[in-house]
Amino acid sequence: MIELKRIKELFRQLYSGGDPIYCFFSPGRINLIGEHIDYNGGYVLPLALSIGTYGLIRYRDDDIIQLRSLNADGEILINLSKDIKYDEQCKWSNYPCGVIKYLMDEGYSISGCDILFTSNLPINSGLSSSASIEILTGYMLLYRAFQDKINRIDLARLCQGAENEFIGVNCGIMDQFSIAMGKKDNAILLDCNTLQFKYIPVHLDKYSLIVIDTTKKRSLSNSEYNKRRIECEKVLHILRKHRNIENLCKAGIDDIYDYVGDDTLRRRARHVVTEQKRVLESVEMLKKGDVVSFGRLLAASHESLRNDYEVTGIELDTVVFEALNVEGCIGSRMTGAGFGGCAIALVENRTIDEFKKQVSKGYTKKTGLRADFYKCEISDGCRFIE
Ligand code: ADP
Ligand code: MG
Repeated sequence: MIELKRIKELFRQLYSGGDPIYCFFSPGRINLIGEHIDYNGGYVLPLALSIGTYGLIRYRDDDIIQLRSLNADGEILINLSKDIKYDEQCKWSNYPCGVIKYLMDEGYSISGCDILFTSNLPINSGLSSSASIEILTGYMLLYRAFQDKINRIDLARLCQGAENEFIGVNCGIMDQFSIAMGKKDNAILLDCNTLQFKYIPVHLDKYSLIVIDTTKKRSLSNSEYNKRRIECEKVLHILRKHRNIENLCKAGIDDIYDYVGDDTLRRRARHVVTEQKRVLESVEMLKKGDVVSFGRLLAASHESLRNDYEVTGIELDTVVFEALNVEGCIGSRMTGAGFGGCAIALVENRTIDEFKKQVSKGYTKKTGLRADFYKCEISDGCRFIE
């Protein structure tokens, strides 16, 4: 837990001036299942975590915004009467600055403020610290005028737009949506095509979800991610010569075998179509309280991401292999874009300590890297704290 009192003290030292200082929280997210599905227009099943980004803000009556983060260097000063441009020197500040720019371009009237960010979320690890800081920035700035009437879905769309265009990362809507719309103890079944969604209660009986950070930098992530997107577009183009389908998730497995001749493309498409099925089966299993079957679906998802979609890599494969080897672990898979970042595992409560010990040992022995563990508590979306 972050010590807010201490952070407030730091805020006063950094910015001087008086009260009130308001505090907000924005979660990180994991996707339970439905990986590489959002840009294919299908169903995903993300949830908001209890770890995330905190933002302290003091509103001002002029056009100056000051930004600092305890997790990164640089003091940013923005004059709202001037155009906001991408900053090559201070990369992190582009995430909040992009959102500020996009809010103003949308016609929101934004006033000056001093902001300090701090986070207990691993950054750059696939738990979407980027969407967390984006949604937080937008939420804090809109809160002055709208309080709890902020339209969270509009905000999610706007932040996705800022990440796509201002930052240049071609992400889908899932991250921003789950961080803005999360609900305690629920996952979100989200149709990425229509943004229709349903909350799915997550009761795991005697099991817990453990997030495992491989601490492997996702160096391949961006280029391979873009390649997969292009491959999926190619498959869709082929299928559309034969069938009138809206997106790849609407294809059937027979379509893939009948019309897609290229082996690589066929495997990519098979992942998408089978993963989509696993998402809907997972929802049924969670509704029935059949946690063991849900665990099997997680493991099947990882297999598909490894063999057909080829986005796992040695670190994620090792962590999942070690996890499934521990007695009491009933399912594990990578989560996020892949090539490093995090995995999740469903672990019986009584074996969690043993689980961490064994996975740590096996993983470090094989990769030379350290694994970090977080118990996953499912939290509400971005919110005002005090
Ligand atoms: P992920 O979203 O998986 O954590 P990304 O590479 O998409 O990884 O985004 C991480 C980037 O977001 C960081 O490199 C940094 O620029 C920015 N960021 C996220 N959280 C913070 C924070 N608390 N303070 C400063 N920058 C942050
Ligand atoms: Mg990100």
